Amino acid sequence: MVSAAPASQRAAKRRSLVVGNWKMNGSAASNEALLAALKAAPLGDAEVSVCVPAVYLHDVADSLHGGAVHWGAQDCSSHESGAYTGEISAAMLAEFGCCHVIVGHSERRALHGESDALVAKKAAMALKHGLVPILCVGETLAEREAGQTEAVVGRQLGAAIELLDKRIDGVVIAYEPVWAIGTGKTASPAEAQAVHAFLRKTLAAAGAASGSLRILYGGSVKADNAAQLFAESDIDGGLIGGASLKAADFIAICRAAR
Ligand code: PEP
Repeated sequence: MVSAAPASQRAAKRRSLVVGNWKMNGSAASNEALLAALKAAPLGDAEVSVCVPAVYLHDVADSLHGGAVHWGAQDCSSHESGAYTGEISAAMLAEFGCCHVIVGHSERRALHGESDALVAKKAAMALKHGLVPILCVGETLAEREAGQTEAVVGRQLGAAIELLDKRIDGVVIAYEPVWAIGTGKTASPAEAQAVHAFLRKTLAAAGAASGSLRILYGGSVKADNAAQLFAESDIDGGLIGGASLKAADFIAICRAAR
């Protein structure tokens, strides 16, 4: 296993980030209630963001404008503009004040056949328009059981490094083991830390600013396991699905990140 800096050293270099991925959930009324709760609560020292369905970006931007919580989207096109029916460009997201955009979520890789190369192009387009891409990597259960975790996440990250070169420093990586997403099964802190350390080592070997680049963990993070995961030296916060829809849970997770 790769040795890593103690958590206290990490905290000095990298501010934690907690991002809610609402997926295809919400309604005008439920969003308003959730955002009101987030705005009213002390969220701690971490940077906090919510990645919402695109149709809600206008209302979310209106609600969060000028506050501490950032917002973003769950995908963007790899194209600048043009005849791509149904797609949303990075430039459009930037116009709505988005700070972040998730690219390469495992649901998009699996359900929409997104390749490593396409995900890298999306990250490049996001960076071009001033957005911070949250680039997801992660192995399936079969891949983990076959001992291929490092090969898989290394390949996924490698495609982004190859295309972005030095621009990789502007990306946030999210390690999301597919077997842990929405399943209630969480990687143990040690399992997650081992992969995060591998990713950081891979970034360092590529000449990236690996000491300042943030690597989030995602996969069934809950209010009662967040603190243990976030205490690991290479885990810089989380990408939170289901629990980001429940105000009290998401607030507790944000407060667990230091
Ligand atoms: C996700 O959708 O990125 C995710 C991590 O989901 P969950 O927290 O529900 O596992």
